[in-house]
Amino acid sequence: MPNMSMTKNPMPAQEPEVRNKNFNEVALGYTEEQAIDEAQRCLNCKHKPCVGGCPVQIDIPAFIAEVAKGEFEKAYQIITRSSSLPAICGRVCPQESQCEQRCVRGIKGEPVAIGRLERFVADWHMANSTEAPEKPESNGHKVAVIGSGPSGLACAGDLAKKGYDVTIYEALHLAGGVLAYGIPEFRLPKAIVQKEIDGLKALGVKIETNVVIGKTISIDELFDEFGFESVFIGSGAGLPRFMNIPGENLNGVYSANEFLTRINLMKAYKDDSKTPIRHPKSTVVVGGGNVAMDAARSAKRLGSDVTIVYRRTKAELPARAEEVEHAEEEGIKFAFLHNPVEVEGEDGWVKAVRCQVMELSDPDESGRRKPVPVEGKFITVPCDCMIMSIGTSPNPLIKSTTEGLETQKWGGIVADEATGLTSRKGVYAGGDAVTGAATVILAMGAGKNAAAAIDASLMGEK
Ligand code: FAD
Ligand code: SF4
Ligand code: SF4
Repeated sequence: MPNMSMTKNPMPAQEPEVRNKNFNEVALGYTEEQAIDEAQRCLNCKHKPCVGGCPVQIDIPAFIAEVAKGEFEKAYQIITRSSSLPAICGRVCPQESQCEQRCVRGIKGEPVAIGRLERFVADWHMANSTEAPEKPESNGHKVAVIGSGPSGLACAGDLAKKGYDVTIYEALHLAGGVLAYGIPEFRLPKAIVQKEIDGLKALGVKIETNVVIGKTISIDELFDEFGFESVFIGSGAGLPRFMNIPGENLNGVYSANEFLTRINLMKAYKDDSKTPIRHPKSTVVVGGGNVAMDAARSAKRLGSDVTIVYRRTKAELPARAEEVEHAEEEGIKFAFLHNPVEVEGEDGWVKAVRCQVMELSDPDESGRRKPVPVEGKFITVPCDCMIMSIGTSPNPLIKSTTEGLETQKWGGIVADEATGLTSRKGVYAGGDAVTGAATVILAMGAGKNAAAAIDASLMGEK
């Protein structure tokens, strides 16, 4: 008999007033009892609508049925047939617009907490499994992967399992891509990312850090001098955009990427960090996406008062509802319908942000209401730190150093959707480098698809 409760089992979490002063994980995860109780809410629907909402098509009812029986390892084996990074996706996937959005239990109440169950299963496996992955026998083929974000890790993992000799080249000193330098510890503990990377190393994947492809080594050299037969580009979209307004070059104005990298990768919040950061008293974050929420919540944890400035209304915020709720609970303020027009400074440092008051226009042909300025209306928000979080694009370095690699006008690499094959023979691409800033699960899926295509090509299959 299924559990007919209308609501999900709540996720145990740190209290807002405690967590907004530390970098430890906010959500604490289900206990075994909570996981089994939640799994019993699943109706094991014959047509599996939830699976259609998952970009990598995890057999959701099958893994949840195993959780309901207390067979957690079996559940893990089902998930990992389709996903390489379940502990990560269970934490950061926008489930509410993917698998959970299609769950039939969501019609009259809350959907089954698929993401929380996935996280539980992956964490259970990490805590209880003692089996080390076996290094597969070599098939004699060499593949290079550029970038160690989710697309690169997934591609490398799938190829290594098939016996390929895989080397990942990573520009930074630590592997993980956005998982390591972008998403904060309080949402995704770095120990979990490291465990995934250790698992790849155990499969034989080599990771060369501090290597910038296009500067240290070119793609041509990877083929001609290093003997790789295929290359996968998973270099992400880490180039920040700015607003080009007066005063943006003042000290104390960061891109969200720089701010988060200092905090996550360089542990700038610790007193003994080699990359310290001035602990701001008052921070303005510009933007309304997940990255803006992460930057704002990180600044809050440094002890700052934080205001998010967004040019539309709360209803249009692109960030996940859960992240907005967490930010509000932690005391972050929002200035909706405001757009920065000038950064004011003193002695070379940011002092305040002058913002134009906006309103939403009548809907256009597409039904979209655009933010438009309210003539003559401005406010000034005092601050000693400003964080720009208005989007990123792929870095042009690889394109500019690789002959025959076609890109879109905005910088994204042109690649076949199903295989990741680019305009250059033997070169595949996937993740944010192709789509622009997207999600972990989409990047992971693209890496897996490319691995399958590389394997088929090198093994002479059509
Ligand atoms: P990335 O993760 O960007 O990794 C690319 C790697 O390539 C980087 O390590 C980079 O250093 C390296 N690289 C770049 N150029 C070179 C070069 N020339 N040579 C060698 N290495 C190179 N998604 C979600 O699903 N949920 C979330 O909650 C979420 N939150 C986010 C929060 C933040 C702050 C950010 C920035 C993104 C967030 N995302 C989230 C988006 C998600 O993280 C990305 O879509 C995903 O990481 C893209 O993966 P990727 O493998 O394409 O690239
Ligand atoms: Fe849902 Fe993401 Fe897990 Fe797929 S990977 S089942 S979308 S949480
Ligand atoms: Fe279970 Fe919901 Fe999927 Fe049905 S749609 S199988 S209830 S998770």
